[in-house]
Amino acid sequence: MIGTSVKGAPIRELTVGHGPRRVLFVGGIHGDEPEGALTTNELPAAFTAAGLVDVVTLTIIEDVNPDGRSAGTRENANGVDVNRNFPASNFDYGNTANGGEPLTQPEAIALAGAIDRINPALVLVAHSWAGRQFVNFDGPAREIAEKFSAATGLPVEESSSIAPTPGSLGSFVGRDRGIPILTIEVLKGSDQRSVWDQLRAGLIEAMRG
Ligand SMILES: [Zn+2]
Repeated sequence: MIGTSVKGAPIRELTVGHGPRRVLFVGGIHGDEPEGALTTNELPAAFTAAGLVDVVTLTIIEDVNPDGRSAGTRENANGVDVNRNFPASNFDYGNTANGGEPLTQPEAIALAGAIDRINPALVLVAHSWAGRQFVNFDGPAREIAEKFSAATGLPVEESSSIAPTPGSLGSFVGRDRGIPILTIEVLKGSDQRSVWDQLRAGLIEAMRG
C-alpha cells in the first residue's frame, strides 16, 4: 500500500519481476475511466509469460483514485481532479478544482511518493476518452509511443494537440522530470476484455523497452 484515499481506501501497489529496468503502470487515476481495470489484473501473468521477470521490475498501482472509481466520478472525494494536483511547473493555481496548490490531495501525494521511490525508466497510465482513442506521451517517449502505437493501433497524439493539462502526471513526470510517460486513452465505455486484448502486445513491447 502506498497510501490511502480521502475516504481511507487503500491505494495498492504490486511489484512483479526483478530486472534492472523499472517500469510503473498506473491502472487508473480518473474514477469514471475504469476501462483499464482488467488490464491491470491481467498484466502480471502476461509480464511473466513474456519472459520479462529478469529484464524489468514492474510496479503496478491498480487504482490511484479508489473513491472516484466507487462513486463513478472523475474527481476524488474532495471534488479535485487528482491528475491536475501534481507539482508540475505548469500547475494552475487559478482553478480550485485542481486542489488549490500542488499535492494537497492524498492520492497525488501517494503517487508522487511512489515515483520518487521507484525512479522509473517508463511510466504507463490508463485513461479513457469519449469518441476516440490514442496514446499521448510526455518526456523523451516518442520512440516508445510509436512502438506502442504500432502494436495496438492507437495513433500517437502530441500533447500540443489535446487540451492543456496543467498539473497532470504527464506534465510532472514527463515534461519536468524527463521520465518517458505514455498516457493511454482507450475508447470510453469499451469492454474491459477488448481493451486488454488490444493493449496487451503494446504494453509488453513498451515495458521491454
Ligand atoms: Zn483520464
